[in-house]
Amino acid sequence: MLAMKNLILILFVCTLQSCQSQNKSETSEKSSTMSTTVKKTDAEWKAQLSEVEYEVLRNKGTERAFTGKYYDHFEKGKYVCAACENDLFTSDTKFDSHCGWPSFDQAIKGAVIYKKDLSFGMVRTEVMCAKCEGHLGHVFDDGPKETTGQRFCTNSVSIKFVPATN
Ligand SMILES: [Zn+2]
Repeated sequence: MLAMKNLILILFVCTLQSCQSQNKSETSEKSSTMSTTVKKTDAEWKAQLSEVEYEVLRNKGTERAFTGKYYDHFEKGKYVCAACENDLFTSDTKFDSHCGWPSFDQAIKGAVIYKKDLSFGMVRTEVMCAKCEGHLGHVFDDGPKETTGQRFCTNSVSIKFVPATN
């Protein structure tokens, strides 16, 4: 009788454990999805970013044309978000638009989000980092016709270049 009781107990503990481990994997899956968004307060962003980065990324400012470090930069690699390091653009989608800002004909899939921007009496499409919602620039439909026809006009201070390793 005692042996039977022990067996039941062992079974019960086993079931409980397998149940727990299942829960654990579910939780870790959930938290990895959650970590794809970066939410910080204004004060936290201010502390992390430089003054000009904060002005552009969080206040949707625009750097002056031909002043950023990437408008004339064509090395092989990728460009990540200056605020959260989310991969945004690859160098093979960058083209010389002569507009004074780094321009890409497409963003990495899922890396950016779009918002209608009616400021300054214009109808534009704002481009933001999908992970931290940092302001990157705007997308226009005057890009290279032979590829996408789009021009992701991006502020240099919103992005950070990471050279290709090979
Ligand atoms: Zn970001």
